[in-house]
Amino acid sequence: MRILVIEDEPQLAGHVTRALARRGHRVAAQSDGALGLRAALEQPHDLIVLDLNLPSLDGLAVLARLRQGGSPARVLILTARGEVEHRVKGLQSGADDYLAKPFAMDELIARVEALGRRTATPGADDLLQVADLRMDVRHRRVTRAGKIVALSPREFDVLQVLLQEPGRAFSRTELCERVWQRDHEYDTRTVEIFITRLRKKVDTGFGVPLIHTLRAVGYTVRAPA
Ligand code: CA
Repeated sequence: MRILVIEDEPQLAGHVTRALARRGHRVAAQSDGALGLRAALEQPHDLIVLDLNLPSLDGLAVLARLRQGGSPARVLILTARGEVEHRVKGLQSGADDYLAKPFAMDELIARVEALGRRTATPGADDLLQVADLRMDVRHRRVTRAGKIVALSPREFDVLQVLLQEPGRAFSRTELCERVWQRDHEYDTRTVEIFITRLRKKVDTGFGVPLIHTLRAVGYTVRAPA
């Protein structure tokens, strides 16, 4: 993968860059927010490792500008321990996953590579549809009522799991496992944030909601009765 690391602590940036390069990725690094944003907009990257606390332009602002600019890069944010609010804000602003500092390098590599894997299972249908919501899995394209719905990579993955079995309820824990492949840490708040993001894009403005919450069970996508 082509990876951009935006991190202002030189030692940490160096460790991360070298560790990812050893895994065969093409890695570039920037040490401040404005330079990082420029690099991200100038060159396409598959994934961006983004520290939130950065000089000149903070990580949340970088993220917002990237998503406004339609960047399809997957974004993994780095948050300081205990900064739950920053993590929530980051996920609400379009990040795909997060990692709290300090972290083990193996954990970072696992997160990065999980984000790089597409969840499309072999033999899965290329075209998924519920009512007027259509997903072209191969081209990672979603439309509702014929209009393009621009989703971040992880938003796409969550919706894909739901669309593969319309009407089936998925618990937050199962969605978390299927999409983020976190085995031990069931962060159900992350799933809630992604469902909120998806509802805004997929349901708002289209009259009939397709994403439904089943109390005490989880979420499902289904056509109106
Ligand atoms: Ca920092």
